[in-house]
Amino acid sequence: MKYCPLCAFELKEVQIDAKPRLSCSSEACDYIYWNNPTPVIGALVERNGEVILVRNKGWPEKMFGLVTGFLEEGETAENAILREVKEELGLDGKIVEFIGYYSFFQMNQLILVFHITVEGEVTLGQELVEMRSIPPEKLRPWPFGTGPAVQDWLDRRHAS
Ligand SMILES: [Zn+2]
Repeated sequence: MKYCPLCAFELKEVQIDAKPRLSCSSEACDYIYWNNPTPVIGALVERNGEVILVRNKGWPEKMFGLVTGFLEEGETAENAILREVKEELGLDGKIVEFIGYYSFFQMNQLILVFHITVEGEVTLGQELVEMRSIPPEKLRPWPFGTGPAVQDWLDRRHAS
């Protein structure tokens, strides 16, 4: 970010509480760009006892993750994830439980992950290029993004 979204003056780096921040250079404006993390919602989608992993457009060929998306204005996390599942898989999902929230520092995101079940045939949405259906015992959680949610879900299955 280079210019103030309030007054369009240039942003300049300043130290606030010993951290570099971008602040508006106008004397009349006190805008500070805090760069707060963005909330993201994620779905561990279970269908026929298997977990659906998807590859988004622009991702490397072997990279798969959970269905994710952003909240729209006025939406609860629950509404948003059911909408994303409908958009990306073409199916009506049911929320089983909230798995947890996960910091994804590299992307400056906070991901809220739900366990969702669906039934029927998947129709991939425009943001996805490929999907895989993996039996839980073959899931290998990755150590970033939505991967730790997959790990937690697997750990709880084993515990119960
Ligand atoms: Zn400004």
